[in-house]
Amino acid sequence: MPELPEVETVVRELREKLPGAVITRAVLTARDMYRRDSRDVSALEGARVASVERRGKAIVVRCRGSNGDLDLVVHLGMTGQLLWSARANTKALPHLHARWSLSGGAELRLVDPRRFGYVMVASPDATTASLAVGPDALTVTADELAHVLRRRTAAIKALLLDQRIVAGLGNIYVDESLFLAKVHPLTRGDRAARKSREIVAAVRRVLANAIAARGTTFSDYRRPDGSSGEFQFKLRVYGREGERCVRCRAKIRKIEVGQRGTHFCPRCQRMPRTVSSSRRK
Ligand SMILES: [Zn+2]
Repeated sequence: MPELPEVETVVRELREKLPGAVITRAVLTARDMYRRDSRDVSALEGARVASVERRGKAIVVRCRGSNGDLDLVVHLGMTGQLLWSARANTKALPHLHARWSLSGGAELRLVDPRRFGYVMVASPDATTASLAVGPDALTVTADELAHVLRRRTAAIKALLLDQRIVAGLGNIYVDESLFLAKVHPLTRGDRAARKSREIVAAVRRVLANAIAARGTTFSDYRRPDGSSGEFQFKLRVYGREGERCVRCRAKIRKIEVGQRGTHFCPRCQRMPRTVSSSRRK
């Protein structure tokens, strides 16, 4: 599923293509992909793209039309691809649900086999209200994270997946970040709070490396030109169950945390001792 590095890659690459273009025609055929309260995509016709931004895992294309500013918000869900082509394609493509024709003959397309993503066309105010997420994973500070974690007892793995706490992280990058920070995924939030500095530093490093590699492609994720990311070759724990830890050679384990497959090194990522057991000794 596309997480922050994949969405950031799509945003950065579309930023080189879309601004300045006028949307001449917009069609969305899979109407169930509209987010609640969205306007029809045809409202974008005649509007000019001003910028392309990211809010958590959502892509926000800011447009200026004759009737004011409008945002096109695309969330890629599990398997979505937002593809850009210099030329319109008249062929019927599998799982193609929306297309935006652009001045100059280029085309933006939304392909999504499983359709867990969504499309929303709304005013900038409505976008802000709809995408209410926590601080971005690239910029959240250790103090901000510690402040939230101190009051929580759920597993740190589950807390970091909560977009209201930190926006942009998903299963892959939480596992990779906790490995780098040497924090066990089942550590309670209030105990992980004292490792906030290590966690934030690890999250930033993992995300920066993943963005530099243009994201992780296991199956569906594609860059706007259709090519794959390359971070899948650099993963240290995710998907490496039973293989040796790159740091200590112990075998990587996989457990379930909040129904999500969770990968960690049992030797590098120890559970902190509980208060009662440390009292006992
Ligand atoms: Zn290890």
